[in-house]
Amino acid sequence: FVANVSHELKTPLSLLSLFSEILELGRVKTEEKKIEYYRIIRHESRRLNKMIGNILDFSKIEAGRKTYNFADGDMAEVIENVLSSYRYQIINSGFDVQTDLQRDLPSVLIDRDAMAQAISNLVDNAIKYSGEVKQLSIKTETRGPDLSIEIADRGIGIPRAEQAKVFEKFYRVGNGLVHDVKGSGLGLSLVKHIIEAHQGTISVESDAGKGSRFTILLPLARNGAE
Ligand code: ADP
Repeated sequence: FVANVSHELKTPLSLLSLFSEILELGRVKTEEKKIEYYRIIRHESRRLNKMIGNILDFSKIEAGRKTYNFADGDMAEVIENVLSSYRYQIINSGFDVQTDLQRDLPSVLIDRDAMAQAISNLVDNAIKYSGEVKQLSIKTETRGPDLSIEIADRGIGIPRAEQAKVFEKFYRVGNGLVHDVKGSGLGLSLVKHIIEAHQGTISVESDAGKGSRFTILLPLARNGAE
């Protein structure tokens, strides 16, 4: 774990150091290039911030000290905010994003920051674990007594035997494809913790090589989280 996390933290730090040094030395001639490098710096600092957030939350959860602030919230808005924070990465890597957010979704009791973190971890994975077909789709609708949120990609998929295990802490699928991608195996365990703190469930359907669909169900009745 320590080796994985340290490795993950080092990459954005090296990029930050590299691009700020190039800028400082005045080696960048065009305004366009400068803007590109500033963007990289902003993007990598956000990535670093996110990783550290995940690690801090993980340690709070392990110590039983993670708390949530629930309030009425609009999940469509949370999703739109997360997607807009990924805009640069999405456009840059050629992703096609389709959203199907049911209009006038009922509000749910949520901790907005925690929910944003959960959605962001799922979007992050969809991007990380996609190969040539870069498609991300997000759908929310009411389904019986629940609000459902589906986040699907057409990436490398997860072999059936491993699908239940991906929500365990530190678990990473043991095939070569995954190990080309950096990760600490914390993301989905945090997502599960957050969703369960909201009295919800998370599940995955996936076919190796075809893609994955993560489904979150949040109860609409307001008795749970309160
Ligand atoms: P990390 O991405 O840091 O390894 P996660 O807890 O977010 O950790 O995910 C655990 C594992 O589940 C990943 O290492 C990967 O093997 C698999 N996984 C998660 N999301 C996807 C996805 N969208 N497509 C394919 N595999 C995935």
